[in-house]
Amino acid sequence: MIDDLEKYAYLNKIPIMQKDGIEFLCNFIKKNNIKNILEIGSAIGYSAIRMALVDKDIKIVTVEKDINRYNIAFNNIKSFNSDNQITILNEDALNSNFSACFDLIFIDASKSHNIDFFNKFSSNLSKGGFIITDNLSFHGLVEDNSLVKTRNQRGLVNKIKKYIEFLDNNYDFDTKYINVGDKISISKRRDDIYE
Ligand code: MG
Repeated sequence: MIDDLEKYAYLNKIPIMQKDGIEFLCNFIKKNNIKNILEIGSAIGYSAIRMALVDKDIKIVTVEKDINRYNIAFNNIKSFNSDNQITILNEDALNSNFSACFDLIFIDASKSHNIDFFNKFSSNLSKGGFIITDNLSFHGLVEDNSLVKTRNQRGLVNKIKKYIEFLDNNYDFDTKYINVGDKISISKRRDDIYE
């Protein structure tokens, strides 16, 4: 059951997408008829499984560098019988190379590498495809500096701010921000919009 994954994540303090965020993402996939997805950061496989459940023709490649999370995600994907739709890889996405193109690239991994992931995988984006990034609010810390308590948090918040600046100044892509879950961005190639 999907509820069990949510409970497991909560009890083990593993960040998964908030309910309104994952629901928005699944509707977006349905509405835009997205079939091929690359996910950076599987965590326990929750979002990959939810996305796969949108339609049986959807194929997902998801990358997780942490071996423990990979193992949990691998087993969850199997137990949902989603392994015919989801391929999970245990590697650091910064070292991954794909020749395929994807309709959606979903970035939800190490927040300090968002720019690297965006630049690295934008060449794997199908024509008309989207790059979506999660956690741009970082639990409110990006908007409210007074919530930042540790040096580690400050570093991450600064990286996320830099990423937002990067998106805003990226002329090749048009980016919208949506306030669902922990705030997401949706980037689309300008060429695909204005042709
Ligand atoms: Mg996330």
